Amino acid sequence: MLKIMVVDDAQFMRLRVSKLLIKHGYEVVEAGDGAAAVQTYRQLKPDAVLMDITMPIKDGLTALSEIRQFDPQAKVIMLTALGQQAIVLKAMQAGAKDFLVKPFDPERIMKSVQKVLKRNYELGIRN
Ligand SMILES: [Mg+2]
Repeated sequence: MLKIMVVDDAQFMRLRVSKLLIKHGYEVVEAGDGAAAVQTYRQLKPDAVLMDITMPIKDGLTALSEIRQFDPQAKVIMLTALGQQAIVLKAMQAGAKDFLVKPFDPERIMKSVQKVLKRNYELGIRN
């Protein structure tokens, strides 16, 4: 089973994204800040990560860089708010595979996850 790490300091957001992923057959692990995300990534090596940018303790951009240092193949999708275009550019330069602008959109989330995992969203098969 493919494992996705959901990182957001907002518990309701983690819950919504996690429920969606579980419904689509993924295993989910969660982290509530960037530092926990880096630690959990090192321990559990998830297949992909959905990560908020604005978080306490360690922000998403810093966590992204540290995760990519540990695993240059890491597949990280950044979750952004409107008006964070400059940060999005930095995140892409730091190796983010995709970004999603909040609010929560189930279809866009699933398409992005399937894309970074290089699976066919419509057919649900590996390319
Ligand atoms: Mg946040």
